Amino acid sequence: MERAGVEVLLVSVGSDLPYLTGYEAMPLERLTMLVVPRDGEVTLVIPGLEAPRVTEQTGVFTLRPWGELEDPVAIVAGLLPSPQVAAVGDTMWARFLVELLGHWPGSATQYVRSTTVMNDLRMRKDAAEIAALQAAGAAIDRVAAQLHAGEVPLVGRTEAEVSADLSRRILAEGHQSVNFAIVAAGENAASPHHHPGSRVIREGELVLCDIGGTMDGYCSDITRCVHTGPVSAEIAEAYAVLHAAHAAGVAAGVVGAACQDVDRAARRVITDAGFGEYFIHRTGHGIGMEAHEDPYMVEGNTLPLAAGHAFSVEPGIYVPGRWGMRLEDIVVAAEAGPLSMNFVDHSLVVLN
Ligand code: ZN
Ligand code: ZN
Ligand code: ZN
Repeated sequence: MERAGVEVLLVSVGSDLPYLTGYEAMPLERLTMLVVPRDGEVTLVIPGLEAPRVTEQTGVFTLRPWGELEDPVAIVAGLLPSPQVAAVGDTMWARFLVELLGHWPGSATQYVRSTTVMNDLRMRKDAAEIAALQAAGAAIDRVAAQLHAGEVPLVGRTEAEVSADLSRRILAEGHQSVNFAIVAAGENAASPHHHPGSRVIREGELVLCDIGGTMDGYCSDITRCVHTGPVSAEIAEAYAVLHAAHAAGVAAGVVGAACQDVDRAARRVITDAGFGEYFIHRTGHGIGMEAHEDPYMVEGNTLPLAAGHAFSVEPGIYVPGRWGMRLEDIVVAAEAGPLSMNFVDHSLVVLN
């Protein structure tokens, strides 16, 4: 906070709160807010009815439960006089910021994003966080392996049915929640974030599955494609390009390289093969307590990778109206080189 020139950090619903305190607030209209002044006592302003869920941590923060007839925003604002710079979390509800502006007007207080304080902490995963990502990665790998082994019936089922099946497996393998279970068949796979629907999966088509959940606070995320029946030469060639692009992206994820270098490495392979116009998104996103967080593997991001940065490498090729494919693993930058969180076969597995 000293370095960022921030006088007070306001942490509400979202991942910063459990990151800092171990307590995750329910995203409700009643305000929960950790008020962290640069100098002085930290206070957790919390709805009285939620207070029993929190253990006060002496020397870390004190609780300020508020009653149903109190104004929690006034309580927050009363903890310190008009600060010059207040950092607010990305997912703090707009209504609270609007109300806060009534106490700390924008003419006196400059508002900045809490990422200015939190990113350095959040992006670099420590050993325990990497272990959590590995455990989540192993759990999602077990689901992807079941898909590869043909244990998840595809042909004749709708995308939505397969998505529900994968979701049950994500939980069965140890995640507490499912973040997404994208299942996209044939031409639907050309839409990267396709919403699984009533489309019935047929013989002889590519099925893209992008699945992930949260396990003990940390996220998993993997994409594998399978093919129902024989693969055409066109799909096989494109997939070979995709696989090479993925490998190049992972290999580029070394400590000291810029985030954009990971994107460039993967994109170059796809562009050189003539598919450049069909790779329509960045190569990857950071991952941790959130499924998508900083740092992003995208052109223009010159942030150097540091040991502990965790991110996805997920190049894709999407030909509108025809087919799409993506290959995704989570990688952690380490001094010894890129450390993968996923170990499931990268090939386009053919299921009969
Ligand atoms: Zn994914
Ligand atoms: Zn991803
Ligand atoms: Zn590979």
